Amino acid sequence: MPEAPRDYNLVEQNEKILEFIEDVTANVDQVQKRVLSEILSNNANVEYLKRHCLHGQTDRETFKKHLPVITYEDIQPDINRIANGDTSPILCSKPISEFLTSSGTSGGERKLMPTIEEDQGRRSLLYSLQMPVISMFVPGLEKGKGMYLMFIKSEATTPGGIVARPVLTSYYKSSYFQDRPYDPYTNYTSPNETVLCPDSYQSMYSQLLCGLCQNKEVFRVGAVFASGFIRAIRFLEKNWSLLCNDVRTGTINPQITDTSVREAVMKILKPDPKLADLIQTECSKSSWQGIITRLWPNTKYVDVIVTGTMSQYIPTLDYYSNGLPLVCTMYASSECYFGVNLNPLCKPSEVSYTLIPTMCYFEFLPVNRSNGVNDHTPRSLNEKEKQELVELVDVKLGQEYELVVTTYAGLYRYRVGDVLRVAGFKNKAPQFNFVCRKNVVLSIDSDKTDEVELQNAMKNAVTHLVPFDASVSEYTSYADTTTIPGHYVLYWELSLKGSTPIPPCVFEDCCLTIEESLNSVYRQGRVSDKSIGPLEIKIVEQGTFDKLMDYAISLGASINQYKTPRCVKFAPVVELLNSRVVEKYFSPKCPKWVPGHKQWINHN
Ligand code: AMP
Repeated sequence: MPEAPRDYNLVEQNEKILEFIEDVTANVDQVQKRVLSEILSNNANVEYLKRHCLHGQTDRETFKKHLPVITYEDIQPDINRIANGDTSPILCSKPISEFLTSSGTSGGERKLMPTIEEDQGRRSLLYSLQMPVISMFVPGLEKGKGMYLMFIKSEATTPGGIVARPVLTSYYKSSYFQDRPYDPYTNYTSPNETVLCPDSYQSMYSQLLCGLCQNKEVFRVGAVFASGFIRAIRFLEKNWSLLCNDVRTGTINPQITDTSVREAVMKILKPDPKLADLIQTECSKSSWQGIITRLWPNTKYVDVIVTGTMSQYIPTLDYYSNGLPLVCTMYASSECYFGVNLNPLCKPSEVSYTLIPTMCYFEFLPVNRSNGVNDHTPRSLNEKEKQELVELVDVKLGQEYELVVTTYAGLYRYRVGDVLRVAGFKNKAPQFNFVCRKNVVLSIDSDKTDEVELQNAMKNAVTHLVPFDASVSEYTSYADTTTIPGHYVLYWELSLKGSTPIPPCVFEDCCLTIEESLNSVYRQGRVSDKSIGPLEIKIVEQGTFDKLMDYAISLGASINQYKTPRCVKFAPVVELLNSRVVEKYFSPKCPKWVPGHKQWINHN
């Protein structure tokens, strides 16, 4: 981190950013009009727009008349051409600098989102909005550091030679992150080398070590998602005595072999027996309640996303942090970065994101059952449904919408797959609660498994039961986050016609087959990130699913319309299922996973 330049003025800097927010939120519609016009004029020559009969027009009416509202599958042939090396302007007139690999999947593989060089500036702008906002609520943060756990993930190259990697890996490897100028708000305890270390054990170890040895300076802690932060605490539970020894002696555990990491850490690490005593005392207590505030006593908040599926981690975070504020700063995706939370100290259940109208052109599809939002197979919208899309300024308070974006990098009227609810307004800009990701039933980390994938995996698994004349008569699933890492649980009620007992290894094979059938993000979580534990099948007593139905009906469900839920979340239902478990089996090993798309394997 370079020293502060003499003319650095934090107050002025913050004011400028807050003014920017005021300005763009007051002039939402003008800004959106300009953004669409810029995108369409920059890309007037691209094949996709010409294909849809747009010949340089940049007005909203013509755009909306001609351009279909699409999902990833609609542009997959175009994406594949780019990935295979076609450099003609297909979606965007500027060169696609890389593909950002989304945690959303298509055909079991990560979706590839095109991005252009200048998008990095837009993403950096969104990052730069967060701290001036938080500083209005939590003063003095510039006097301390942030202990943020940041990781890169593996990357691959498409057959046409374009790098494909997650958006954060791209950001951490960019000069925007590595050569960032002095800014007290990006003063992290982790040296860049520890973030950029490709070995996840060494990266986590060295980042925690640097965080521990600067513990008094840490004013805020965080990770992108709650699941990642909890993984760090779990790592600390397993490795604290090694870390403590390093703090005591001022040396680094020999398992850290990356020389650039060792050198960077050695610039910070000094023998500190007093701190080591504190770490030892606190970590060896039987309860880890409040461990964050005990080890990092000046921490004012935990910066992690706890909206959407991450809300399942709130109680665990509250426990470890002794109820420190959980701050969700931003809402973003590989397609585009969208918005920030302007009320960062609000309760997690009340978090809303203000979409920043300079990021892309936003449209909103009202959510109701007839427009495909709740269908499992996305389909094209008909003309009438297309006309239901509304502008950012026209959304209605309390209404839910599916987000549709048009980006500078060449996605036009693209359905992101997120459902948002209007919670309020900042000037003329709506603020949205994140409601859910469409169709996702199971998620532990960044994996998103939908019902169709689960059903397909089940179909593959039950073939192991056929030789025993057995089948699964009912099933449901549960994302169990009481274990660290969390894991998928399937509850099976069996129908047994044969007399041969089914050996445990058959159910273990079923577990593994399900894992092998799930998408690549799930398998990466199991194999590479170790952020998901082995899948578990719990066999329940006969009649359990009838009891589940009785319970749902007692709560008001209609007998005629009752369908077994393919995923359960409600605690009493999970308890009912758990109380009737007769056998449990875990996946005996990790499923197969390799970086990149399966079609590229021969090219890399
Ligand atoms: P990815 O494309 O892998 O970066 O994932 C982006 C998706 O993560 C979004 O479309 C959302 O579904 C989810 N996501 C991102 N930010 C948030 C947030 N603040 N709260 C809830 N979900 C989020």
